[in-house]
Amino acid sequence: MTDCIFCKIAEGTIPADKVYEDELVVAFRDLNPKAPVHVLVIPRKHIATLNDLTEEDHAVLARLQWVATRVAQQEGIAEDGYRTVMNCNADGGQSVYHVHLHVLGGRQMEWPPG
Ligand code: ADP
Repeated sequence: MTDCIFCKIAEGTIPADKVYEDELVVAFRDLNPKAPVHVLVIPRKHIATLNDLTEEDHAVLARLQWVATRVAQQEGIAEDGYRTVMNCNADGGQSVYHVHLHVLGGRQMEWPPG
């Protein structure tokens, strides 16, 4: 998708601080981190929201979570703990319409989230 900022990050046409990439997904540091460690893991394929996932996206969805775990280990937050979150549409707090998994850690998370 030509006007999607996360597609451009995945393609490398706009810069991001990437911490992992493979043929299915890319992980990079959030521009406005909400925790000492805040990484976004995205599919290379443009999928606007969780509601747009199809059966053929199951592998990429599993890869997002697997890479989140790997990033947590790489960032040194796996043992103390971390949170993974996906926001969907307006009430879910989604602002970028390309599916992304937040990986947050390095501080105590609160529950329930706001
Ligand atoms: P919210 O903005 O409310 O957290 P999302 O769940 O859609 O909603 O998250 C989008 C995230 O993308 C935000 O945390 C934001 O800081 C981040 N972000 C937006 N643009 C960029 C960018 N160019 N590089 C890295 N992170 C970005």
